[in-house]
Amino acid sequence: MPPMSRIRILPPEVVGKIAAGEVVERPASVVKELLENALDAGARSVRVEIRDGGKKLIRVSDDGAGIDADELPLSVERHATSKLQDAGDLERISTLGFRGEALASIGAVSRLSILSRPHDRMEACEVVVEGGEHRPPAPRGGPAGTIVTVENLFYNVPARLKFTRSASTEAGYVHRMVSRYALAYPEIRFQLVGDGRMSFRSEGSGELRDAIIAVFGVETARKMLELPQDEEPGSIAVSGYVGDPSLSRADREWLILFINRRLVQDRSLSMAVAQAYHTFLMSGRHPVAVINVHMPHEEVDVNVHPAKSEVRFRSQNEVFGAVQRKVRAAIISGASVPQLSSGAYRPSDRDFVSTGSTRLALEAQRTLRMPADEEADVMAQPLLPSEDLPMLRVVGQVQQAYIVAEGPDGMYMIDQHAAHERILYDKMKKEYEEHENTAQALLEPATVELTPAQAALLENEADTLASVGFDVEPFGGTTYIVRSVPAIMAGQNAAGALSDVLAEMVEGFAPLAKEADERLIITICKRAAVKAGQTLSHEEMRSLVRQLEETSAPRTCPHGRPTMIHISTSRIAYQFGRH
Ligand code: ADP
Ligand code: MG
Repeated sequence: MPPMSRIRILPPEVVGKIAAGEVVERPASVVKELLENALDAGARSVRVEIRDGGKKLIRVSDDGAGIDADELPLSVERHATSKLQDAGDLERISTLGFRGEALASIGAVSRLSILSRPHDRMEACEVVVEGGEHRPPAPRGGPAGTIVTVENLFYNVPARLKFTRSASTEAGYVHRMVSRYALAYPEIRFQLVGDGRMSFRSEGSGELRDAIIAVFGVETARKMLELPQDEEPGSIAVSGYVGDPSLSRADREWLILFINRRLVQDRSLSMAVAQAYHTFLMSGRHPVAVINVHMPHEEVDVNVHPAKSEVRFRSQNEVFGAVQRKVRAAIISGASVPQLSSGAYRPSDRDFVSTGSTRLALEAQRTLRMPADEEADVMAQPLLPSEDLPMLRVVGQVQQAYIVAEGPDGMYMIDQHAAHERILYDKMKKEYEEHENTAQALLEPATVELTPAQAALLENEADTLASVGFDVEPFGGTTYIVRSVPAIMAGQNAAGALSDVLAEMVEGFAPLAKEADERLIITICKRAAVKAGQTLSHEEMRSLVRQLEETSAPRTCPHGRPTMIHISTSRIAYQFGRH
């Protein structure tokens, strides 16, 4: 038994650091809190400046109401807020902040200074907090509004510091945060300056569409459909824009939700949006959406999460339904609009695998189960990866996803996507290891707009990407020019290929260092392989099966999943009562 240790009240600086841990996770979370304070102060224009991804410096300047000199010391105290009077106010919070914790928390883990001047005062005043201790405020010259400067974040919390990522990655998170608030507050001007360079700005025109253009670029904005207006305003109003299905992405990064203009993460509402796209998006793809839900403040509890990024609804189902109906209506009305770009994806019956068909497949498996066979859960078993393939005769395709073939001992069902992945992987791996040129130059270089996180990844992994054939150049902001792609992706939309590969890798998020090339190759093959939902000609299927036979491990895809299942002659006979 370990020796008994004494219970003690923790000293305030430890308490401060612990509390800060909940609110301040990384530079972007500091930016979030400071933006919220600026917005709560009624700012019309907010400028964010960072150095070194925010690790060295974060400065948020606003033209809001400012803080009176005599309240300045109070603003950095824990549980000090001007936004709540009593517990009753907690029931209907209309400001972004209310916990009175952000500044105190930030001050506990950085050097924090607040310089502020209310509009009706002649002089600004500054308070400085270092490691949780603040000095008496001193008068200083300064513009009307508030300038909060956070230096050397986490200098006194080595554990946190260790977990911050490279400056470009952290800058990516900050960029994402600022762009999201620009989407929530189209009437406010936002600027983000990173290491002296303007990396984002919104005009503050008040039009959400303008903010969308600022964040996503014109090309993407063109493919966004506005949610229909409410005919008769009820208590829940849903507005915003959703992407037409051609904008689908491999990650959820661009599914952005605001509740009463508060940026939230809500699984259930994300699901509502995703479900509205049902049958319009391939499985594994996620929509692009910027959605605002407005509802009475007392209908939503925002006090459930230290960073205030989750909420609870009084009538969850109503909100869910309202969001889903709106999004669905927009997609359906937009789906009949012809697509502008030639290679664009068009939803049609053969372009997706619905979850319905997966269910059918499972049911089919269940009914095929042999009653006598105790251990086998499904009758058809994947095969051992080491085995070679027998000669197979292609019979046909089912569900536009599986090739049915006959072999010496029964029937084989081959997953066309997994099989193709294996073929491409072997080919590309070999070329890569033998330093063959795997790049295919594009006749016309393509421009691609990346998310900040993708751009950060691209910068970090530029060498690896180049080594597999992606020749990409910066073109300002998060726009890049693609000059070549891996040869196996030739003929596909280059911009889409790159952003999908990056999105996939961002989603995976494991540190890339060691086997970055291997992971990248697998991801590229996944993207380049023929998809489920694609009809194949008999010739194409034959060729696929032949090529699969040649690979190093024909029975598994590079992710280790089976490429095929086998139903033996005796099992088929048994099933028909012919034993
Ligand atoms: P909260 O936002 O939850 O009230 P904070 O610690 O973020 O708590 O801020 C404490 C108080 O400082 C706020 O309630 C507000 O009165 C004041 N404050 C903070 N930032 C600003 C700002 N940019 N402009 C005006 N007042 C501010
Ligand atoms: Mg606040």
